[in-house]
Amino acid sequence: MIYSVIVDISNSQVDRVFDYTCDSELKVGQRVEVQFAHRNVEGFVVGRKETSDCPPEKLKSISKCLDDFTVFDEKMLQLGEYMCRKYHLRLIDVLRLFLPPAMRGNRVRALSRKQATISSQCALTLEDMLEKCSRAPKQQQLLGYIAQHGATLSSKLSEKFGSSALKSLVDKGLVTEQEIVVKRTPYSGVSGNDARHTLTPSQQSVVNSIMAGTGQSFLLHGVTGSGKTEVYMNVIEQVVNSGKTCIMLVPEISLTPNMLRLFRNRFGDCVAILHSGLSAGERFDEWMRLREGEAKIAIGARSAVFAPLDNIGIIIIDEEHDSSYISDFNPRYNTIDVAKYRCSQYGSTLVLGSATPSLESFLSAQRGELTLLSLPERINKRPLPTVEIADMAMERRKGNKGLFSELLRQRLSETIEKGNQAILFLNRRGYSSFLMCTKCGYVARCSDCDVTLTVHREDNELKCHYCNKRYKMLTNCPECGSNAFRQGKIGTQQVVEMLNKMYPDVKVLRMDADTTQNKESHVKILSAFANQQAQILVGTQMIAKGHDFPNVTLVGILDGDQSLYYSDYLATERTFQLLTQVAGRSGRDTQPGRVVLQTYTPNHYCLQLAARQDYLGFYKREINLREASLFPPFSTIVRILYSGENEKDCITQLTKHFNGISALKQQYEQDFLYLDKMRCPLKRAEKKYRFQILMKLSVRSTDEILQKIYSVTDSTDVRGVTVFVERNPQNLT
Ligand code: ADP
Ligand code: ZN
Ligand code: ZN
Repeated sequence: MIYSVIVDISNSQVDRVFDYTCDSELKVGQRVEVQFAHRNVEGFVVGRKETSDCPPEKLKSISKCLDDFTVFDEKMLQLGEYMCRKYHLRLIDVLRLFLPPAMRGNRVRALSRKQATISSQCALTLEDMLEKCSRAPKQQQLLGYIAQHGATLSSKLSEKFGSSALKSLVDKGLVTEQEIVVKRTPYSGVSGNDARHTLTPSQQSVVNSIMAGTGQSFLLHGVTGSGKTEVYMNVIEQVVNSGKTCIMLVPEISLTPNMLRLFRNRFGDCVAILHSGLSAGERFDEWMRLREGEAKIAIGARSAVFAPLDNIGIIIIDEEHDSSYISDFNPRYNTIDVAKYRCSQYGSTLVLGSATPSLESFLSAQRGELTLLSLPERINKRPLPTVEIADMAMERRKGNKGLFSELLRQRLSETIEKGNQAILFLNRRGYSSFLMCTKCGYVARCSDCDVTLTVHREDNELKCHYCNKRYKMLTNCPECGSNAFRQGKIGTQQVVEMLNKMYPDVKVLRMDADTTQNKESHVKILSAFANQQAQILVGTQMIAKGHDFPNVTLVGILDGDQSLYYSDYLATERTFQLLTQVAGRSGRDTQPGRVVLQTYTPNHYCLQLAARQDYLGFYKREINLREASLFPPFSTIVRILYSGENEKDCITQLTKHFNGISALKQQYEQDFLYLDKMRCPLKRAEKKYRFQILMKLSVRSTDEILQKIYSVTDSTDVRGVTVFVERNPQNLT
């Protein structure tokens, strides 16, 4: 038999199948090792055939088969091909998404351990056996132990009774040992008891609609605290009981211990977790449990949409507006598109859920492409938090130059006195955002990026938040030698320092990218806060979503304007979502919640509407703006990004492509709403210069024009320049 193989080399020249022969039977999706260009490389079987166009004497045979199972099935392969067409990707880059990363290069494998049991060959009764080792009490104890507990890991028995006892029993033929595969369990400490809630009538009616609409796509718009998670779990339970499998996606940063605990408690080992925070071994084992059908529910971040499941009944995407669902590096894809495709393969149901749906999804619902379901009230009609706006410009005029408004200080003190908890949100980590010499104006910048360095007091360092490069703290200005510096905007580290001064007896926790570098530190901080080990939690966007802390009655948003003034058309939508989500952390249990929103622009519609948690009001206003100014979803933004260490080469490549695209524009005059070339706002990153071609296209011709743009960019020929085509990029820096 002849097999078509995709070799595991990401390169445009080898982005096609190569034929190999093999004497043994192989299946599509099997990993193999083949000879390619005089070396051994890994590859995937993607097809079988009788004959090859390659002359038989040139056909090489497959060197070896790497696993005794397949890593994807025919349907996944179809999905891969769909993604290649849709996003112009190389098949190998997509196939790599389908398996745990460490499987490539065989850097991970199943963990096996020896296990001991009473030998089945041995005809003696337990009493006779004990009699046989009457002079060896340890052996007797060991026998007694496995007689009572059944098969036990040999390592555990050796630890308890000594390794010689075990060995003697094996030698006597009373006990046998056997290699078994043991699964590594991520977050094994996360468990607890959660009461099962009786659904409220509105939750029940949402569940009923979803269950009655098999194969349909839904948008569940439920305010923060409306009980969406309970709805998801209910639906998943019914789907699993009907013999089908489920995928539940959450944003990368909100896979919280709380969420895990709820799912583990409800579904036990039937749930597998997939996300990048797991160790290679855990990830492999969780993936295997899904593949083998031991687990039927995959829960995880973006990449869990590729969970190795068959017979999918439902895919749920929680916080569907979150930008982490869009992969903005190669391979670039949109998780919602991928989920839709997988659903179409199985006739499964799709549920997108959010308190602040993306404008695009809500528009789809208005157009009837998604069925809209709503949970307009919090559980038990608990009120949404009261939001008070603190006008920081006014504070300045009154002489308060500090970070905290009078109002926020007052609310914070009240909260602490009552023994409640508060969350303070500032989307800026580090100590302060830049360091400037007051004498000559020198500002510390990263040598590799066009980015100012952030001061980190804890490590007494300057860090580049783009490439993570670290620099020694400056004592003197490298330009003029002065030692007088001014620092930029306050970051989370400094907020904690201030709070410690303001409330010396109050324990404060901080959660941001700096405090969550270790694998489980995330979980630790959140559990400590949930267990009331601290009264105040300071954090970046990591604390915005999904968390359910019943004792939090105050949320303080320190800088509500921060993301509002990016030059990006998405800035207002992002700000609205973030503020609504953060505010939604307050007053989720019986005690009413408050939010203090600090801003210099108290009358901005985005802040006003976020303060009222008025999604529909915001939607109407923003969608009209987008329509009037022809921004997505009423047009498509396409950006071609050029980056390379040599500035001239980037410009040469860009100019060539720009000529090609200008010709396209003449052909599609009506559909090019905008076309220009320029430096990117972030001019240099990680030593590479960055340029872009930006265009705005009519929606109806986007697909057609994109194919032609791809044929222009496929002719990339200047060495050292990377070219990326992005459709509606989430980030225009
Ligand atoms: P959302 O995801 O919509 O923000 P959650 O699912 O976190 O909301 O639910 C908010 C709170 O309400 C949680 O503490 C949850 O345990 C509780 N809850 C959910 N459903 C019910 C119910 N039917 N009865 C009582 N409490 C519920
Ligand atoms: Zn200076
Ligand atoms: Zn840098």
